[in-house]
Amino acid sequence: MTDCTVTTRVRQVNENQCHMCMPLGGVVALRGVEHSIALVHGSQGCSTYMRLANVEHFNEPIDIASSSLNEKQTIFGGEANLRKALDNVIRVYQPKVIGIMTSCLAETMGDDIERFIETYKNDREIREIDIIPVSTPSYNGTHTEGFWATTRAVVAYYARPTERHPGINVIVPNISPADIREIKRILDLMGLEYTLLPDYSLTLDRPFGGRYQKIAPGGTSTAGIARMAGAQATIQFGLTCPEPLSPGLFLEQQFGVPLINLPLPIGLDSMDLFVRTLHDLSRRPVPESLVLERGWLCDGMADAHKINAGARPAIYGEPELIYALAKLCMENGSIPAVIASGTQNSGLVGLLQPLLKDALEEPVILEEADFVTIEEAAVRKGANLAIGHSGGRYLTERQGIPGVRVGYPIHDRIGGQRILSVGYTGTLAFLDRFTNTLLEAKHGSYRRLRKEEMLNKKGVSNAKA
Ligand code: SF4
Repeated sequence: MTDCTVTTRVRQVNENQCHMCMPLGGVVALRGVEHSIALVHGSQGCSTYMRLANVEHFNEPIDIASSSLNEKQTIFGGEANLRKALDNVIRVYQPKVIGIMTSCLAETMGDDIERFIETYKNDREIREIDIIPVSTPSYNGTHTEGFWATTRAVVAYYARPTERHPGINVIVPNISPADIREIKRILDLMGLEYTLLPDYSLTLDRPFGGRYQKIAPGGTSTAGIARMAGAQATIQFGLTCPEPLSPGLFLEQQFGVPLINLPLPIGLDSMDLFVRTLHDLSRRPVPESLVLERGWLCDGMADAHKINAGARPAIYGEPELIYALAKLCMENGSIPAVIASGTQNSGLVGLLQPLLKDALEEPVILEEADFVTIEEAAVRKGANLAIGHSGGRYLTERQGIPGVRVGYPIHDRIGGQRILSVGYTGTLAFLDRFTNTLLEAKHGSYRRLRKEEMLNKKGVSNAKA
């Protein structure tokens, strides 16, 4: 039994950070609401950066409006620019929902967004368009907090007292569109009526064909979000979601909808917990197809355990995902060398400690970490696998630690939106990628290492002669 080495705020200056900016996460969450568009109240550069980051990850056209603040508005306030931006967005896109995410600049200036919106709606006599403000200054949080804050703001805007119904709410963190589709498939298999939020499984992963539409079809309907207040329960994959940003907690406190906070259903134990919860809520038997998928995962784990026991992964990224991945590693015999998140206040350390208490070797847990710190810890702890988004590519480039891509954002591979990691099927797919990366590294290097060993021996015997 060991104590984990826990490090927080290891450096005063972040260099090559392990997170993205706060409104960027809000933009992703808002794409999960039907007929919506995001407007960033800030400079052009903010929304351009967010567009690029998302386009490279999702490989889809992603429009993000901007109020284009510049030096003048920094002094005189950004109301006029915001009104102009709203006029343009409504004329060009005809949305039903506009989410306004604030940038660092707008928050520092102290613009009163709620008053701006009220005045604008009254002046233009707007009744049919919902305009939702979300406070997302990046110095207050990362894209993870931006995602949760926006989801909570959407729930708080629409949820109203409503009659109780047998349906459930499912609230997901920032996972891939493929993961959302898999969770919906499992919910359908269990025969449950549900509202999943935010559902960007179609809006951020469009099938080819048909006419281009400025606002992609798909997303959770606002009527469905309103009904969340009457559900029998909320399942939220949000163990690390800060309480003030928790949409599920809001529904529980405001409308008495019981909150069931679960880990992301990655790995056998977490997925079993999800299925048991669905079984309890639906009172239906677990379908044979899920039992089969579970069996295939167990078979895959048995096949791969002798290889995976040698893995010492460095896992980094968003807290919800890395907690789930650390659990998966532990149940497959791989003790993480490093577990790192760029986020603060996620409670990650407290969650991980019981999980790692029996680990034979001591992992390093880093919060608010940057990649300089992660790289140093990975080398020091002898990591032989790097699991996470493309921000960690330097672990491979500089240190030769092979990488397994998962999470957000992924800019150095194609298909970030299609990476499947949840459910029995997704876990098995992830485990195969994990094991095969280890095998590839082994087979790609052992002849060279053997040759070096032989040459070294020869050098020794020549020297003796
Ligand atoms: S200024 Fe703030 S909101 Fe804009 S891109 Fe930079 S971190 Fe994000």
